[in-house]
Amino acid sequence: MGGVASGTDAIALGLRACGIGPGDEVLLPANTFVATLIGVLRAGATPVLVDCDGDTALIDLAAAAAAISARTRAIVPVHLYGQMVAPDALQRFASQHDLLIFEDAAQAHLAQRQGYRAGAVGVAAAFSFYPSKNLGALGDGGMVLTNTDAIAQKLRSLRNYGAAHKYYHTEATGTNSRLDTLQAAVLALKLPHLEQWNQARNQMASRYDYSLQPLAEYGIHPLRNQSGPGHVYHLYVVRVTAACPLDRDTLQQALAAAGIQTGIHYPIPCHLQPAFQDLGYDLGDFPQAERLSQEIVSLPMYPGLSETQVQQVVHRLRVALEMAVNLPTLNSLAH
Ligand SMILES: *Cc1c(COP(=O)(O)O)cnc(C)c1O
Repeated sequence: MGGVASGTDAIALGLRACGIGPGDEVLLPANTFVATLIGVLRAGATPVLVDCDGDTALIDLAAAAAAISARTRAIVPVHLYGQMVAPDALQRFASQHDLLIFEDAAQAHLAQRQGYRAGAVGVAAAFSFYPSKNLGALGDGGMVLTNTDAIAQKLRSLRNYGAAHKYYHTEATGTNSRLDTLQAAVLALKLPHLEQWNQARNQMASRYDYSLQPLAEYGIHPLRNQSGPGHVYHLYVVRVTAACPLDRDTLQQALAAAGIQTGIHYPIPCHLQPAFQDLGYDLGDFPQAERLSQEIVSLPMYPGLSETQVQQVVHRLRVALEMAVNLPTLNSLAH
């Protein structure tokens, strides 16, 4: 275990501590926050993007298998929105193809699935403590988890100017990446509450699931999520599908007019970002990731969210949708 300055550093330095670098291909989902991709690039490795499952938004391992080459060394599964990529399938995939698993657990502190915690599936894992994460500091912070001593030692050297021990430097590409002391103090105070905060998120997600059921007829669908307490709902995401009478923008505006803030995580998949055009991908390469980027909306989700607030969000959605469906009828009656 080693604290670092950010989640991005945790990925970049963590991968390097695992021996991943130039010449190595690393699989990662196209629909993640760009920091996953930036971390892989900063490790010096070659990112290979992979499409996701259109219902769960998690990396599609069949698509990952199709992207493997002789140079593929690792997979970086992203436990997106607080839900882990299924560990048994992931480990089977990795051992079948002789790949190392490096988890991006930036959105999944304490998430659980099939008896595993996020961060305990692969050889190492990256966490972020950016303020908006489930466990957030007051500023930036990150951490690499591993139970391999050699990886932990290499990480501690890389984050500390490449020093093997004090004033003795063995890594030319070491850097300064500390978990700031004040941030660490804040995290130590918040950590005992994390489990309870995650539970609160999970409970409100169940309320959303239940209350949103009637909106399925309007083409509004939550992502397909694991049941039970293991999903820590960093975000609660619904899809506004083509069957919906209102487009996503209009729905978001209707909620905003009622003082309800929503988000899109993320509006542009990594392969369509201007910065990464030289990776050689194109529109159409990852159809599920592209479709999801057009459909997804993140509804309010945080530990203090109340059941009443969840009802209000769903109520506002329903009113907007009913108006959109009924308005044409009312107009025709007026003639
Ligand atoms: C936040 C985040 C990161 C990056 O963490 P920082 O601390 O902001 O550098 C990486 N991956 C995912 C999936 C994230 O959500």
